[in-house]
Amino acid sequence: MTAPSNATAEDERPRLSAAQAVALTLLRDGSPAATIQRRTGIALQGLYPLAVAWQITAPCGTVEGAECHIARGEDTCKPCQRVKGKADAQARAQRKIRDTRRQVTATRTSHRPQARNGRPRSRHGAAT
Ligand SMILES: [Zn+2]
Repeated sequence: MTAPSNATAEDERPRLSAAQAVALTLLRDGSPAATIQRRTGIALQGLYPLAVAWQITAPCGTVEGAECHIARGEDTCKPCQRVKGKADAQARAQRKIRDTRRQVTATRTSHRPQARNGRPRSRHGAAT
């Protein structure tokens, strides 16, 4: 009952759909994530592990390149780090704006009593 386990690494690669193959090609050619997602409908977060399996990497000095480094579990190179740092800072700034908006909304509605479910915790299975 022994299954043949001498499969090559290539056989272990996940199969690609046509859209995934196009997405990987675009990724390799340096297309931004937004473009790839728009053209193929594939979110890059799910594509990076595939890119690793198929040994495809986005050009360095792009956010996608940085994500490829991260997906491979290695340190980002200088150009990638710079771009990623900028993108992260931008994301943080956007989050901050969102949080500020939420705080403003919360302040406006704070006169309302909080509808919180303060149910006491029951101890299941705890025998006396
Ligand atoms: Zn790089």
